[in-house]
Amino acid sequence: MKLGKIAVVAVVAAAGLVAPGSSPALAHGGGEPPKEPTAVGYGGAVSTVDPTATAVGLDVLRRGGNAVDAAVAAAATLGVTEPFSAGIGGGGFFVYYDAKTRRVHTIDGRESAPSAMGEDAFLKSDGTPIAFQEARVSGISAGVPGTLLTWKEALRKWGSRSLPAALAPAADVAQRGFTVDATFRQQIADNSAQFAQFGSTRDLYLPGGQPPTVGSRFRNPDLADTYREIARHGTDTFYEGRIARDIVATVQHPPVAADPAVPWAFEIRPGGMTLNDLARYDVRFPAPTRSDYRGYTVYGMSTPSSGGVAVGEALNILERFDLSGMSAVDALHHYLEASALSFADRNRYVGADTSQRLLDELLRDRYAAERACLIDPAKAFAKPVAPGNPDGRYGECATSAAAAEGNPGQSTTNLTVADKWGNIVEYTLTIEQTGGNAMVVPGRGFLLNNEMTDFTFIQTPGAPPDPNLPAPGKRPRSSMSPTIVFDDGKPFLALGTPGGATIITTVLQMIVNRIDLGMTLPEAMAAPRASQRNSAAPQAEPAFITAYGTDLAALGQPTFASTAELGAATAIEFTRNGGMVATAEPVRRGGGAAGVVRTGKSH
Ligand code: GLU
Repeated sequence: MKLGKIAVVAVVAAAGLVAPGSSPALAHGGGEPPKEPTAVGYGGAVSTVDPTATAVGLDVLRRGGNAVDAAVAAAATLGVTEPFSAGIGGGGFFVYYDAKTRRVHTIDGRESAPSAMGEDAFLKSDGTPIAFQEARVSGISAGVPGTLLTWKEALRKWGSRSLPAALAPAADVAQRGFTVDATFRQQIADNSAQFAQFGSTRDLYLPGGQPPTVGSRFRNPDLADTYREIARHGTDTFYEGRIARDIVATVQHPPVAADPAVPWAFEIRPGGMTLNDLARYDVRFPAPTRSDYRGYTVYGMSTPSSGGVAVGEALNILERFDLSGMSAVDALHHYLEASALSFADRNRYVGADTSQRLLDELLRDRYAAERACLIDPAKAFAKPVAPGNPDGRYGECATSAAAAEGNPGQSTTNLTVADKWGNIVEYTLTIEQTGGNAMVVPGRGFLLNNEMTDFTFIQTPGAPPDPNLPAPGKRPRSSMSPTIVFDDGKPFLALGTPGGATIITTVLQMIVNRIDLGMTLPEAMAAPRASQRNSAAPQAEPAFITAYGTDLAALGQPTFASTAELGAATAIEFTRNGGMVATAEPVRRGGGAAGVVRTGKSH
């Protein structure tokens, strides 16, 4: 959500005028919270796609909460105001830098496959794959949600506030309502056929059969009650109690409306998630990926996300070239080539069960050197390019066959938070497609995810085994890339974005923009984007095509398919003496909201 939100309030809190003890969502008479794409200051910072969520996070920091407290409170608020991208019906990846121990930790809160899910989950009886929309709008696509346990565990390990305290402001926003903006309305309009199939979703998001109008007030009292029930009874009510039963009922018996307003072309398939699947779910704490880039150290998310390894491998390849000494076009040519090479390997090798040994090989500099020798500064190689051979014996350039691209996706949300003690949270959370599987759990006010469609639906005959086929309990490969970059051991930059598989290329491009191409962080964020995922049909934003399309074509880069926007990033850069530059999108997805605890220069 972007353009304006909560009609009550949070502006006063965000401006620091709220008396201690009152919550921004409870204060009255303030109007809209501020919505600036860049804020410079110190004492803590928050960047999200939504002004209300940013205001809630800043309020937590101002009252002495730490980055984890603020990140969870902001994420819970995004579950209200950005419900089509994220919420307790989904999952995500939480990266945390602990200033005291100077260590980076991660939480894998990815949705897992129900135990009944086999390799043929997305195949019809004739062995052919189900069409994507049919798979998405079904009970099959819903994985066991991990977001709530991510919040609980993050707070337990590193927070200073309780889960009930973190949920309270979000419950207030859900109860009192917020002002509908153009993005919120559009996301419903884009999903209106799917949402109309389910009584619970239709009642909430299509009141009177239409998306709510821009400027109207939107309330979600069921979600307020759900948050409060969790606050009272703990996360067990979600994973083992009443809410668990409601989730399982929704998956096994999708709440299809008796009188769907819009005719529907296919039968809604039920899924096999059970109470046992929910009770057995747990988050994991994998070691972050680590790669060194021109003296910086880059920490990212390991499997089941491919983000950390794909960004890291591409950076290792790019490190072989002096990008800052090149023209912008030449540097972008190298960026596109490195990204294609990294994606070839990611598609071939990376899934939830990829061995640590193989991941380590993919991130080895000597492997990157072998891959880098495929890049000709004067001529793009043909795409798709073959994956390499990360076998530990490097030296010669590898060549050959092709790799397919994943589903690009277009939902999800990202937030970046830092506190005055130097702790940092970089968190990407999602319900997969915008609108998830389109089913609001009746009486509960939140949408279920369709994350299982991130699995590869079918093994390509004759191709090497796909690492991302469905299996019981398995987590589908993600592209989410919450990333924290250090300079000489000190935090330098934290960033992340939504965008399906384009997440990897956007994070990579922003790092290159900032470190190699001499841009400030706000410039690196705003710069037009391109996404080359080992395809003969890469994507780029119109401004990128206008600026570089002809020159890149002269270097043999394939023609870009124009796409209105790639990503909706958030980031914070850390400057000297505790200064912070918090940055959100100035334009994409309606623009985001960055804020700092105290504006101005640091001492
Ligand atoms: N489900 C996607 C992933 O995990 C994210 C979807 C999106 O960003 O749109 O990679």
